[in-house]
This record gives sequence, structure tokens and C-alpha cells, in this order.
Amino acid sequence: MEILSDPKSARRYVIERQSTGETLAVVPTMGALHDGHLSLVEIGKEKCDRVVATIFVNPTQFAPGEDLDKYPRTLKQDLARLESLGTDAVFVPEVSSMYPDGCTTSVSPPRVAEGLEGSFRPEHFGGVCTIVLKLFQCLPCNVGVFGQKDYQQLLVIKAMVRDLNLPIEVLSGEIIRDQDGLAMSSRNRYLSAVERENALCIPKALRSLQDDVQSGVTSVEELQERLIARLEDSEAVAHAARDAAEGQPIQRGVDSLDYAVVVDSETLEPIEKLNRPAVALVAARVGQTRLIDNCTISV
Ligand code: AMP
Repeated sequence: MEILSDPKSARRYVIERQSTGETLAVVPTMGALHDGHLSLVEIGKEKCDRVVATIFVNPTQFAPGEDLDKYPRTLKQDLARLESLGTDAVFVPEVSSMYPDGCTTSVSPPRVAEGLEGSFRPEHFGGVCTIVLKLFQCLPCNVGVFGQKDYQQLLVIKAMVRDLNLPIEVLSGEIIRDQDGLAMSSRNRYLSAVERENALCIPKALRSLQDDVQSGVTSVEELQERLIARLEDSEAVAHAARDAAEGQPIQRGVDSLDYAVVVDSETLEPIEKLNRPAVALVAARVGQTRLIDNCTISV
């Protein structure tokens, strides 16, 4: 597995291989790799002759006070996992080579970046678009692979690729979950055991929402109300008193909810009825950790 750190040699790596007729896929990540990331590498391998992963904790997508400094960095294990999977190359640039002194140009994100994550993290998608475009420039691959776990981000990247005529095909991979249902995330390692138990209300609430849809509920208002009630887990208040009395860890819903919505799956615009493909999107804090999850709803 080739380890590339300099943008020029990364570009040369891709162009040389393309000149012999090979196709390449790029899988951008921030490292602290888990099976979700690796599933995207597998997709890249299936689709193209070669796959290049990137590991870069991008400072411009973190706001002051977010977890940039404590974001997990596990480069040695990441490289070992990528190598054992048969990844062809990894691009691990320094911050100074992606953002040299005086670098002030950035990408203005597309409309689908407004609202939801865009409201709670106003600078986030500008940083994401800028780094993804820069990574596509350093690694001008045929295909880019992104996870549906970051659903809005996936739409933002697809829109940027369309709007800026970028010559790359965007593919997506479904959400990979741990056995208990929690969507895998590099940030899950921040959770204590009790917080992790509490966080399970997120995948459970999304599964129950799908059951509600199956059983015929089509009012989005009603679906959202049920989703929020399950995430805030009103029953848990009673459970907490019982658990405390029995010496059990106190379980409850999330500690705070940024949003829990059912919206149009293409535009993320509000809808009233489930008469078109929709997606349920959740962002919540459990302890200090902010988690996001989603599920698509077909009708
Ligand atoms: P990150 O390292 O968190 O920036 O994520 C890098 C890529 O992995 C993004 O395209 C994410 O959407 C994707 N990803 C993160 N978690 C998962 C997951 N549990 N399942 C599938 N893809 C994921």
C-alpha cells in the first residue's frame, strides 16, 4: 500500500494509473476508521481497478469549541486496517499542505446545505465542500465514495459535483451499524457505557418510525411527534426512578435534541404527507457527544 503525503505525488499516482487505462476510486475520511469507512473502501474496490483512501482531520469543518483537538487520531491502526483490506494507496496530507499560509479561497456550499446540520453548524459544509473539492483535485479519481450516515453531506457533495461540473461519479454506501444498532461513528468512542445505552434510543426510534410507516401512518407531523417522543423518551423518566432504586444505571433518552425531522429525501424540504421518498434525520447530544443518524422511508 502506497502512502502519499504530498499533493503533487498523489496527483501523479492517479494520473499515471489512469494513463494505462485503470480506473480509481477515492474514499475521503477523517481517520479513526471503523467498518463503516471500510465498507466504502469495498465499494471503491468493486467499482474501480484501484482504491485510494484519504485520512485528514479537516480543521475548516470544525467550529471553534467543537472537537477538532480531541478528535480521535489512530493513524497506525488505520493504515493496518486499510492495508489488510487491499487498499492501493492512502493520502495522508499535513494541514500545511492542504491549507498553506495565505490560503483564503473556499467553496460556497449548495442550497441543500442550508438548514439541519447547516443551521446547527453554520461553517461546517463550507469546510466540507472546500476540502472535498481539494481532495478531488489532489486525487482526480473516476469515482468518490461517501456514506449515507452523513446523509445531508452526501447530498451536498452530489450537488457540488453537479454544480461545478466535476468529472467524478459519486457513489454512496449504506449505514453500517454495530450489533446493538448504533450507527458506527468515530465519535462513539467518546460515549461512556451508560451514554451508549442511552444513545440506542436513536436507532430504536428510527426503527419504530419505519414500523409506523409500515402500519400506515402517513402524516409527517404525527411521525415526527412520535419520533421526538421516543428520542426524548418520556417513559424513561419513570424507568429512571425504578432503575435508580434497583441500583441499575439510569437509562433515558438523548440529553438534547438538535432536530428530528421527516423531509423530502432529495431536497430535504419539509413535507406534509408521505407521498414521495422521504428521509428521517436525527441529530442529538448524549452527554457531550453529538450523534447523527437517519433512515430513508420509501412509500
Ligand atoms: P468521517 O471520517 O466521519 O468524515 O467519515 C468518512 C466517510 O465515512 C463519510 O463519507 C461518512 O459518511 C462515512 N461513514 C461514517 N460512518 C459511517 C457508517 N457508520 N456507515 C457508512 N459510512 C459511514
